[in-house]
Amino acid sequence: GTGNMVAISEEGTAAITVVLTMTVYATAAAIFGLPAALIVRSCLMLIIVAAACGVVARTLERSARTRFIDAHAMAELAQLDPLTGVKNRRVFDEHLETFWQRAIKEERGIAILLIDVDHFKAYNDRYGHQAGDRALRRVAEMIQMFVTRPSDVLARYGGEEFAVLMYDIDGVAAEKVAAQVRKAVVAMGLEHRDSRLGQIVTISIGVAAVEPSPERRARGALQLADEALYQAKTMGRNRVEVLDPTAHKALETGVFTKGSGLR
Ligand code: GH3
Ligand code: MG
Ligand code: MG
Repeated sequence: GTGNMVAISEEGTAAITVVLTMTVYATAAAIFGLPAALIVRSCLMLIIVAAACGVVARTLERSARTRFIDAHAMAELAQLDPLTGVKNRRVFDEHLETFWQRAIKEERGIAILLIDVDHFKAYNDRYGHQAGDRALRRVAEMIQMFVTRPSDVLARYGGEEFAVLMYDIDGVAAEKVAAQVRKAVVAMGLEHRDSRLGQIVTISIGVAAVEPSPERRARGALQLADEALYQAKTMGRNRVEVLDPTAHKALETGVFTKGSGLR
């Protein structure tokens, strides 16, 4: 409003209205010669009713506001994995589709990192499921440190598996990020006596760097990342393997072919 306007709260406005109404009523009643006792009683009644209405209105407004906040909090929570607090698989899949379409339009590359904790069954067997949960949280936190661009998405993709989605990135840059994440998890030095990989918790990462195109589908890229992860596992774990657009072109999953539709 203008600079010298006095701000009056909604409660203030309501109170002034009640006082004015009462004054007008009392004056009119006195002019018409109603008994003073009746005028006082009527005014008291008016105050009580106004106060009751005020309380009800305020309660209604408060509950409407908390319901609104609750709905937002619920929507946020529905996106997250309860154990680690990172995004869940459904959200990742949605983002992947969106990234895919945008990358085709803007002619950008995207990368998918599939990250799997090594020998994690043995970890649970030795340290128990709760310790396993804690380890998963630590790994998620560490990955998150390297997934910081506004367009990056980190999600828990399965039990001890995480997925990272990066936009406008090539194979070299994606491999660099993956290598940093792998090293950082090693550097945490979480004890894992039943792992032959230095007796600490390690991860394997499969990277798919692709150039999305209209005749391909996003799930083909995911399959490529899975293949890269499989290679990282079979080549000894605690390592990063990258499959680039050349490998993507050779991949048969997620391709549209004439007549037969989506393979
Ligand atoms: P690899 O190096 O080949 O990945 O071996 P691995 O033992 O990690 O793989 P495998 O798939 O055999 O076992 C995965 C284990 O992860 C099995 C399961 O007990 C554990 N796991 C999956 N989800 C959770 C979870 O939410 N909490 C805990 N504590 N453990 C989990
Ligand atoms: Mg696994
Ligand atoms: Mg594993």
